Amino acid sequence: MGKIADNLARIRQSLPEGVTLVAVSKFHPAEALREAYEAGQRVFGESRPQEMTAKCRILPEDIEWHMIGHLQTNKVKYIAPFVSLIHSVDSWRLAETIDREAAKAGRTIDVLLQLHIAQEETKFGWDAAELEHFLQDGRLTGLEHIRIRGLMGMASLTDNMSQVRDEFRTLHRDFVRFREKYLPHMDVLSMGMSGDYPIAIEEGATMVRIGSSIFGRREY
Ligand SMILES: *Cc1c(COP(=O)(O)O)cnc(C)c1O
Repeated sequence: MGKIADNLARIRQSLPEGVTLVAVSKFHPAEALREAYEAGQRVFGESRPQEMTAKCRILPEDIEWHMIGHLQTNKVKYIAPFVSLIHSVDSWRLAETIDREAAKAGRTIDVLLQLHIAQEETKFGWDAAELEHFLQDGRLTGLEHIRIRGLMGMASLTDNMSQVRDEFRTLHRDFVRFREKYLPHMDVLSMGMSGDYPIAIEEGATMVRIGSSIFGRREY
């Protein structure tokens, strides 16, 4: 077995049933994705629209492409025809744009709403109160060409695992609350990366986004 197939097998073994693995392949060449594909992986996460589009053109058609990185509104049109799930919807303007581009492409696009749970200022995402405002007044749920499947969040980059756990726990609590009040069909909670996914799973993640533990270090 190659290194990537090896890593994938080890990680899959550690995931409980019902947790979806997104193999985060950003900055890795198409050959690396092909090795993962040959080992059975079908869900890949990318953070840049051009890179995702280029890889989509040359790799097998049954791959599910997930956009996990911050998405600029003017880039949505490139991925709207084929993207399977957008994890990083962090503003009303972006949600509206995805809705419009999905309509043009004749599709309904699955999305996750990204909540800001980390202490770092730099990470993207709604805060819970702001998001609730858009859910309460029915604006987000009124968009007909997006389907809100769940929430996504990134914990702080820190060695303090009890802080990370608290942040995931907060996100899970918001997930349960928003599901009860506004979005009863939500079924995806995307949280956890290479360094913290076991904790995310303990706190209720249904989808984990793992890059470096599968593909190795990224060369930026
Ligand atoms: C890069 C990235 C990941 C994967 O990070 P690793 O630490 O390599 O597992 C997960 N989620 C998002 C949003 C990312 O940008």
